[in-house]
Amino acid sequence: MTVYGELGVRTLINAKGAATRLSGGIMRPEVSAAMVEASQACVDIAELQAAASRIIAEATGAEAGYVASGASACLLIGAAACITGLDPGRMARLPDTTGMKNECVMVRSQRNFYDHAIRAAGLSIVEVGLPDRYAGAGVRDAEAWEIDDAITGRTACVFYVADAQSQPPVAEVTAVAHARGVPVLVDAAAQLPPEANLRRFIAEGADLVAFSGGKALGGPQASGILAGRRDLVMAAALQHLDLDVFWDMWEPPAGLIDKARLKGAPQHGIGRSCKAGKEEIVGLLTALRLFIAEGDAVRHARWLKDCETVVAELDGFLVTITGSNDTGAVPTVEITLDPDRMSPTELCLRLQAGETAVALDPAQRDKGVVTVNPMCLKPGEAKLVGGQIAQLLRQS
Ligand SMILES: *Cc1c(COP(=O)(O)O)cnc(C)c1O
Repeated sequence: MTVYGELGVRTLINAKGAATRLSGGIMRPEVSAAMVEASQACVDIAELQAAASRIIAEATGAEAGYVASGASACLLIGAAACITGLDPGRMARLPDTTGMKNECVMVRSQRNFYDHAIRAAGLSIVEVGLPDRYAGAGVRDAEAWEIDDAITGRTACVFYVADAQSQPPVAEVTAVAHARGVPVLVDAAAQLPPEANLRRFIAEGADLVAFSGGKALGGPQASGILAGRRDLVMAAALQHLDLDVFWDMWEPPAGLIDKARLKGAPQHGIGRSCKAGKEEIVGLLTALRLFIAEGDAVRHARWLKDCETVVAELDGFLVTITGSNDTGAVPTVEITLDPDRMSPTELCLRLQAGETAVALDPAQRDKGVVTVNPMCLKPGEAKLVGGQIAQLLRQS
């Protein structure tokens, strides 16, 4: 019996993408094997994080890197680092930020519920800009001068949520922020692929960037990458690591923590609840290596093949493949339903309730469209997904 069978939990075919509520994606056997091997020896966790830092630095072009339990976790410790710098007294007081720089400037159209992570560190958000292009009442969004205008002596950082339509461009934001001596923290959780985005935000001046380990990277579901400036990664590490140690016996790895810059060590910091174990760290680094080794073109071709398999099963229905020419995108299958036959909601619910449950993406249901995302499909599942959709649609 499988582990899930023993628990009485159904497995499902994930044609939605690496959503946390669907338990993320499928790890490659090499990643699972690396995690099992990691579980069979104990290490100094700071030394392991220092090794992770070197590998993440190389992959991203940043000075340093770190692993925590998700992109959200990385945003929390990144925000904490921007608030406290290397001051252990401040680290100990978070999330009470009395007397500290505790504001974060953020474009209003980028607000989203993942920003709980930075608020949890003690930041309050100062929103700028009016996203009138979303209201259908204009063409603009926040502009860099508005960010500049909102920066004060209380600003700890500018927080930027990266996505294809995010405005203003990262480079403009980092330029105005840096001119005022303020770091920029970027949420790039779901910005892979393209692989080039591993380096892009750092190259455009971001001081810290967070990526999900459990999305397209194919790492453990509870892992994330923080990449950025050495001093900020050090401040984040100090608030995440278990520092229940005697100062005179503490020999942190110099590549991650420069002890000479500290007047003391904080103990358990605000990042303690974002723990990543040795298994996650090793699994994530393995996944990162495989993600880079596979490359966008091969990965895209693999996903596209699954999309084409789904489409082949849906002969006679209105289907299109998006992103088929863009090797940096995740291609998907969009199925436009005949509203007189079956609604997207009904199709999704019936597939979810089927004997082999299938989860589709209903995000575009208001347009009468359901989407198949191939990112978390295992070999053979694409045909099954296409077949089940076709069967339900033909019966309707
Ligand atoms: C997925 C996501 C996160 C959270 O990432 P986790 O690795 O699950 O913590 C944060 N921000 C955005 C924009 C995301 O899409």
